[in-house]
Amino acid sequence: EESKVICAGCGVSIQSESKNDLGYAPPSALKRDVIICQRCFRLTHYNEVQDVSLTDDDFLKILNGLGQKKALIVKIVDIFDFTGSWLPGLHRFVGGNDVLLVGNKVDLLPKSLNHNRLINWMKKSSKDLGLKPLDVLLMSAEKAIGIETVASEIDRLRNGRDVYIVGCTNVGKSTFINQMIKTFGGDTEQLITTSHFPGTTLDMIDIPLDDGSALYDTPGIINHHQMAHHIDKQELKVITPKKEIKPMVFQLNEEQTLFFGGLGRFDFVRGERTSFTCYFSNELNIHRTKREKADDLYKNHLGELLTPPGAEDKDSLPPLEKHTFRIKDKKVDIVFSGLGWVTVNGTNIEVEGYAPKGVQVMIRESLI
Ligand code: GDP
Repeated sequence: EESKVICAGCGVSIQSESKNDLGYAPPSALKRDVIICQRCFRLTHYNEVQDVSLTDDDFLKILNGLGQKKALIVKIVDIFDFTGSWLPGLHRFVGGNDVLLVGNKVDLLPKSLNHNRLINWMKKSSKDLGLKPLDVLLMSAEKAIGIETVASEIDRLRNGRDVYIVGCTNVGKSTFINQMIKTFGGDTEQLITTSHFPGTTLDMIDIPLDDGSALYDTPGIINHHQMAHHIDKQELKVITPKKEIKPMVFQLNEEQTLFFGGLGRFDFVRGERTSFTCYFSNELNIHRTKREKADDLYKNHLGELLTPPGAEDKDSLPPLEKHTFRIKDKKVDIVFSGLGWVTVNGTNIEVEGYAPKGVQVMIRESLI
C-alpha cells in the first residue's frame, strides 16, 4: 500500500494533483520535514481562508459517525456569525451525545457588552434551532481568554469520553486546538496524530488525553449561509473585525438608509428621529443616504462606492433580500449574520434590514 502523507496542520491527506481540492500541496512542499497543505500554509502565513471543495456529503458522513460514538461534542461558533457558523443538522446527528457550545472571538466585542446577555441569547437561539447544549461558554482562542475554563468544563463534562471539536470553517477551531496544546500540551508532534474517519476522504486530528481517550479535531465545513461564502479573501479581511469593535452612532430621521459596504443595508422606514449604534468591523465603510435614492445607488455603485464586494465579485453576489422589523419599546439588535449588528433604541419604529439572499438578518434583545 502506498504510504499516505498527512497535513500536519489540519490532518487531511496531501495530494499534488488538483489545486482547488482539499489537501493540495505543491510538489516542492512535499520535500519539507513538516508537510502542510496549501490551505493551512495560507492560513498560518497570510491569515487567509482558502475554500476547499469539501462537500456537505462528506461532512454529513462525519456527523453520522459522531452519533454512533460515546463522546462529548464541543461545538464552536463565531459570535459574530452565530447563525452563519451554525451547523444546521448537528442535533440530528449527535445522537444522545452531550454538546458543549463555545462562542469564540469574544476579544472583538466592545467592553460595554454584557457577556451574560450574549450567553442567554446563544442558549435561546440554540434551543430555537433544535439543540440543547449542556453549557454555553465564551472564549477568545486567539487571545487565550477563557481557555482554561473551557478546558476544565470539557474535562468535567466528558466523563472519560472522547471529545470531538466541531465547527464550520473560520470559527477558530484550529486556533483553539493550538491554544489548548500550548496551554496544556508539551511536544506538539508527539501529541498530535491523525486518524482516518471511516467512510470519508477526511481525516481528523487526534490528540490523546491523559486517560487514554482522545480529543478529535474534525475538519471544518464551508457553510453556504456564511457571508464569507459570497466574497473573496481580501474582502473577508475587510468585514472580519480584527480589533475590539468601535461602535458608530448615527442619528437618523425616517426615510434614511445606511449601507454596510455593499453587503448590508439598513432602512429607517418610520418613526421619530432615533439614534442607531452600528457594530461592524472598524474597516467596513458605512455609507449614509436618503432611502429614496438607495436602490439607484446600489444599482450604480455596487463594487465601487459600496464595497466589498469588489468590482469583480459584484455580479456573483446574490440580490439583497429585505427583512422588515417593527419595534415597539424594547432595545433591540438587528443582526446581519457574519457582518455585525445595529442597536435600535427607540419606540414605535419600523426598520428594514437587507442582506444577500441566503444570509440571515434577524432581531434579538439588545446585548448592551
Ligand atoms: P478554523 O477554520 O475554524 O480552524 O478557524 P481558524 O482557527 O483558522 O481561525 C479563522 C480566523 O479567525 C483566523 O483569521 C484567526 O486568526 C481568527 N480567529 C480565531 N480565533 C480568534 C479569536 O479568538 N479572536 C479573533 N479576533 N480572531 C480569531
